[in-house]
Amino acid sequence: NSDMILYTNFVLVNFETRQRYIVKDMLGQGTFGQVVKCSIPETDHFVAVKVIKNQPAYYRQGMAEVSILSLLNNNFDLGDNHHIVRMLDYFIFRNHLCIAFEMLGPNLFELIKLNNYKGLSLNIVQMFSKQILHALVVIKDAGIIHCDLKPENILISTSVKPAEIKVIDFGSACMEKQTIYSYIQSRYYRSPEVLLGCSYTTAIDMWSFGCIVAELFLGLPLFPGASEFDILRRMIDTLGGQPPDELLRLGSNTNRFFKRIGSIYSMENDAMCKRISNTYQFLTEEEYEARESKKPVIGKHYYNFVKLEDIITNYPYKKNLPEEEISKENRTRLALVDFLRGLVQFDPEKRWSPLQASFHPFVTGEPFLCPYRPPQEVPQIPVIRAVAVNHNPVEGHWL
Ligand code: ATP
Ligand code: MG
Ligand code: MG
Repeated sequence: NSDMILYTNFVLVNFETRQRYIVKDMLGQGTFGQVVKCSIPETDHFVAVKVIKNQPAYYRQGMAEVSILSLLNNNFDLGDNHHIVRMLDYFIFRNHLCIAFEMLGPNLFELIKLNNYKGLSLNIVQMFSKQILHALVVIKDAGIIHCDLKPENILISTSVKPAEIKVIDFGSACMEKQTIYSYIQSRYYRSPEVLLGCSYTTAIDMWSFGCIVAELFLGLPLFPGASEFDILRRMIDTLGGQPPDELLRLGSNTNRFFKRIGSIYSMENDAMCKRISNTYQFLTEEEYEARESKKPVIGKHYYNFVKLEDIITNYPYKKNLPEEEISKENRTRLALVDFLRGLVQFDPEKRWSPLQASFHPFVTGEPFLCPYRPPQEVPQIPVIRAVAVNHNPVEGHWL
């Protein structure tokens, strides 16, 4: 096992600064390593320390997290106003990369669970949405894709600020110019362009964000697919249509899920026709399983999931609402449907950016009167920004 053996009162040390971290509790464990709650002896403050496994691949991933977070914290959010976790320190201890973060509270999945999966009130969904968008505006500005937005990676702050949340876990994040991996994002929150094997941009975070907003309200994931095929099928049913052919033509996985049903030809000249594009149709489950050479499941037929509008507007009221509150609740739900439509939008080019989404009436609290048309994105004048650099901490006792 490449995890460090940690126990209560075990001491982690940054030998360069002589800062000591005393392990008090386990906060999380995963493929990357462990996250422990530590006390700082001088101050009695707590911090969370991520102790990465001592293998090169995890070390590299951990250092990418360090680079990206220091870029975000120091170049884009110096004042800590954008709901992004603060990195406090990083060092190597006994061959393990350790990253210290400000101590935060439970994550949004735990909050939903505490609420018996009944979903949160619209006020709270709105408040959290606004904060996540603040983070996403900055993350996009920095040219970073988070790549793993989900309720588990959004933590509630335990500091004095009431009901503040913070985005954590930049361990899968990448620079938009360096999208090297194609198997990214947690399945329920995976964007259509990633499922289809297209190139991707910061818009994939906005898809995940839409899924999170819906889940906060519903208490259950919007697209809880058991497989990638199942996810796509749910998306198509819920959104009422399939991804546009323009997107399907670009996907290296399109042929796993769709069959070609037609072609559009262009006349080169009188003698020659050239096929310029294909049109596609989503497979039935039987066709998919036959194509994947799986045993077809006899009698299992296409299941119709409900439309987004119905899911949101028919959702039972969370408490006994007085008569005068009902029409307000219903109007806010219509605003929520309109908001989600701009986020879980198949076409990444049409999907709203964080800034565009942040002017939506659902977020601003203005009355929702008609479908929202986002302001055009002003093309960004390219500014030379600091680039995430590789920091190279050295094991203290080599010094
Ligand atoms: P994943 O497996 O989701 O990719 P990860 O391996 O990259 O996760 P993190 O998400 O950074 O690791 O941390 C794992 C868990 O540890 C979190 O879900 C959270 O419960 C806990 N945790 C992480 N950072 C903090 C923090 N700053 N304060 C409190 N708990 C934290
Ligand atoms: Mg995580
Ligand atoms: Mg992670």
